Parts: sequence; structure tokens; C-alpha cells
Amino acid sequence: MGVRLKIPKNHVRAASLYIREKLVEGEECGVVTKSGLIAHGRGEAFDYLIGEETIAPALFATRAAAAALLTASHPVISVNGNTAALVPKEIVKLSEEVPADLEVNLFYRSRKREIAVRDALIRAGAKRVLGVGRCASARIPELFSERRRVDPRGIYSADVVLVPLEDGDRTMALKKMGKLVITIDLNPLSRTAQTADITIVDNIIRAVPNITSAVREMKGLGRASLNEVLRNYNNRLNISSTLIHLRDRLTRLAEDV
Ligand code: ATP
Repeated sequence: MGVRLKIPKNHVRAASLYIREKLVEGEECGVVTKSGLIAHGRGEAFDYLIGEETIAPALFATRAAAAALLTASHPVISVNGNTAALVPKEIVKLSEEVPADLEVNLFYRSRKREIAVRDALIRAGAKRVLGVGRCASARIPELFSERRRVDPRGIYSADVVLVPLEDGDRTMALKKMGKLVITIDLNPLSRTAQTADITIVDNIIRAVPNITSAVREMKGLGRASLNEVLRNYNNRLNISSTLIHLRDRLTRLAEDV
């Protein structure tokens, strides 16, 4: 997908407009849903408040995420429409670096969309994509409709799952299945952010390359050191630091007026 809209490089909101345009194109080619566009708006608002940069608690969570992925026996990365439209190459790179399986995981599942998301990943270099068609034959207990379908070789049997931009019900259901859940979510107050074991409050555009770098850097660490990183991580405290960061930034901005 190439961005068609001519966005002047010196436009103050150029980066954000570029991301929007990628999503609009993703919607036109069936990868992104209309509600995916709305969900992005919610994320953007939080990004504005955070300052559109990776903050220290996000980096701390990123290192914990890398440790969890590296110590997992079966790590799986879930890919929805927004993820496939925004970071296709980056998510494939992360899956290779860990290595982890990639699985199409859609809230609004249709055969056409599954294929559109799979094809976007294959164009980005993925060799194998789970969760398409009859392969998504297992069910997440307690969820109804098409959004409970998962691949028995992927999310269903994974011990660690990275579910960027996930909805709260599914995150809770995955936790109940005993999985360690990592999420990327700009809203520190969403049910997903609050329920996951490791919450990276950052834009997926920045977060995915950061996780890949952390995985690359921490690969050389032994299992004991990686477990130590996980032991020292507390998601409640980290979300609390995120909210304090937000509060302090808003206070500074308010006092600057
Ligand atoms: P929940 O059910 O977890 O309370 P929700 O109903 O707000 O959450 P959804 O619309 O299901 O959430 O999921 C989208 C989530 O992804 C939102 O919390 C939104 O802030 C976040 N989000 C959207 N775009 C991005 C992005 N580019 N990077 C990171 N997070 C994003």
C-alpha cells in the first residue's frame, strides 16, 4: 500500500496525517473496518496527550514484553486490520526476530477480510500466516460470534500472545485461558490495557520496532536474566507511572499558558 495523498513534509501534523492515510487506504482495500478507523481516533487522542513519543514506562514494558516473548515456549503475534495496515513489515520482522507465529485475529471476521489481512502480511514478507479460513477452527471459551475463532496451532495453544489494539472481552478471555497477554494500547484506561499482563502504552508505529530492537538486544541474555526482567515488572505500577507521566505533562502544559 503506497500513500497517495500529497502531505507537505513540513506540515506540523504530517506524521499523523500519513498514518491516517494508510488506514484510509487499508479500509478501501478491505483490510481495515470502519470501526477500525474510529478506534484509531481514540488512540490518536491519547497519543496527543502523551506527547507523540515513547515514554519511559512504555520502554520499561517493552523490555518486559521482549523477555516474555523470548522465554515463551510458543509465542504468537495476533494481527488485526489496523496492525496489518500500519506496520505490516515491522510486525513480520518482529515475528522473525523472536521467532513467533503470526495469526490473523479479527473482531469483524469475514473470509474476504481474513484473506486481505493475510495477503498484506505475505506482501510484507511473511512465510506463514495462521488463523485463515478453516484453520481458525478452535474457539476461545466464553466469547460468542466470529470473534471467538482462533487457530489451534496458534493463539489457542500459545503460552504468550501479543495482541496489539485488542478489545477488552477477548483480552479477558485469553487471560482466563491461562495465557500471558502482552498488548500495545495508547489508552492506559482501556479494559485491555488494565487486564493484560504487560501493557505498552505507545503508538503501534513506535512500539513494534522498539520491541524488535529489545528482542535483538536481549537475545544474548540467559534465561535467568530474562526471568529476572519479568520478575521485576509490575503492570499495575507501570500503568500508574504512565498516568503520572500524563498528569505531570498536562500540569506543565497548563502552567505554561
Ligand atoms: P477495551 O474494550 O479494551 O476497553 P476499546 O473499546 O477502547 O477498549 P477497541 O476499539 O476495541 O478499544 O480497541 C482499540 C484500542 O486501541 C483503543 O484503546 C485505542 O486507544 C487503541 N489504539 C488505536 N490506535 C492505536 C495505535 N495506532 N497505537 C496504539 N493503540 C491504538
